[in-house]
Amino acid sequence: MKIAIDVGGTKISAALVDGTQIIEYKKTKSCVHTNIGALSDILFDLCETWLEQADSVAIACTGLVGKETVNFLSIKTELPLKQNIERTFGLPVTIINDAAAAAWAEYQARKTNKSLKTLVYLTVSTGVGGGIVQNGQLVTSNDGFCAHVGHTSVHSADAIHYLCHCGRINCIEAIASGTAIAKHASAVLCKPVTCKQVFELYFKHPEISKIIENSASSLVDLIANIKAITGAEEIVIGGSVGSSPELFNLVKDKFEQLPNIYQTNVSLAMCGPHADLIGVSLYSQLYKS
Ligand code: ADP
Ligand code: ZN
Repeated sequence: MKIAIDVGGTKISAALVDGTQIIEYKKTKSCVHTNIGALSDILFDLCETWLEQADSVAIACTGLVGKETVNFLSIKTELPLKQNIERTFGLPVTIINDAAAAAWAEYQARKTNKSLKTLVYLTVSTGVGGGIVQNGQLVTSNDGFCAHVGHTSVHSADAIHYLCHCGRINCIEAIASGTAIAKHASAVLCKPVTCKQVFELYFKHPEISKIIENSASSLVDLIANIKAITGAEEIVIGGSVGSSPELFNLVKDKFEQLPNIYQTNVSLAMCGPHADLIGVSLYSQLYKS
């Protein structure tokens, strides 16, 4: 058995995992990840009771997850999380990006389709993240800045220049994420609204509808770019925003209008809320580091 951990921006979850089965599950609030020692202590407290049963630790983590370090975009510093957890837990550690872990889970769940070699997973949630399985291999890089599809730039349908927190203009994350949708709608309505509330106003308010349609158009551009770059046979959309029926159906409808060469299977995520934990656990079985 192994300990699987999902370090997110808003919550940290952990489980004792046997294959694809969650034996026990716990979660806690995430902390500001500037203090690597404090983060390791939180993870240790969460998992301590499982230590004797586990032979390794598999971590799915937000941010730029490289071979040895994690760089949380919010603080832009490389932190030696892998080494720290190895020392604290006394167990071997595998660490990958959280969306990469979900991509691996979605790929494994569809393995009955023998012709499936390349799958890209997009999460449209607080931000826009991604994971790429190319020819059966998860795409990773030493510094962890790969498959971050939310930071690819697209044409903005309303000609406004949206500045992304990474420093570029018109990143998908600055147009289509839950944070971006809420921010743009709050400006239109002159009061703070959540992304969920924005979707409740869809069709009832033309300017709000336009924000949701722009988000869908930018995601369609992203999907077409992904198809052109990777040749993905399957593009899976997850996250609370991406899997909302309004946005998903809009994306599907707009995508089907693109020329034939861009067409590929666009589907909803099927692995549920523990996809990151299952994905990283399965991945660490294959690629012990
Ligand atoms: P995380 O980013 O932590 O992975 P989620 O995938 O739940 O979490 O994404 C959070 C974002 O989704 C927030 O911006 C929230 O307002 C938005 N959201 C939550 N539920 C819905 C919904 N039913 N429809 C549209 N947006 C939603
Ligand atoms: Zn960006």
